[in-house]
Amino acid sequence: MPDDQASAEKHPVDLLARNREWAADRIRQDPAFFERLVKQQSPKFLWIGCSDSRVPANEIVGLAPGELFVHRNVANIVVHSDLNCLAVLQYAVDVLQVEHVIVCGHYGCGGIRAAIENQRLGLIDNWFRHVQDVARHHTEELDLLPTNAARWDRLCELNVEAQVEAVIRTTIVQDAWARGQRLSVHGWIYGIHDGILRELTALRDGA
Ligand code: ZN
Repeated sequence: MPDDQASAEKHPVDLLARNREWAADRIRQDPAFFERLVKQQSPKFLWIGCSDSRVPANEIVGLAPGELFVHRNVANIVVHSDLNCLAVLQYAVDVLQVEHVIVCGHYGCGGIRAAIENQRLGLIDNWFRHVQDVARHHTEELDLLPTNAARWDRLCELNVEAQVEAVIRTTIVQDAWARGQRLSVHGWIYGIHDGILRELTALRDGA
């Protein structure tokens, strides 16, 4: 049976059964695993990524539960009026004291494509206006590219860079740097076609 067919036939009850297997397997490998997690979480990383099901944050960087604090939304957008994203960022920086914020986009992002093609998908079109703003800032560069595929790829990258800048401009990061807190911000992009993460923006810190 092809994988996609198997996936289509899964039901929530199957997921619950898989969860029992997973938890039992964890305990077999490390009997104190859940006990340790209950006591505290001390992740060093905040991941701001796309909701896309093909980009599972912990899995692609090989981190276990407890090691990565995660915020995901469609097209990994950081908006200064998004209370949800800001609350995650503030909690991660001020309370958990993460040392790295990683904004991670991915090639083949459906949100970026919808923005670039001006698709009408419903309420989410308003969310994609933020990506269209990024495109508008880079019209000249994007127009020079030979194909729509190339424009799509490049806008995926430009969007990450814009969201890194948005993270840096928040009062949360500015205040952390002003008080000398160790915190760097990274922009990465993931290739769904090869599973590889690439660094787009050099490490940015307050120094
Ligand atoms: Zn995406």
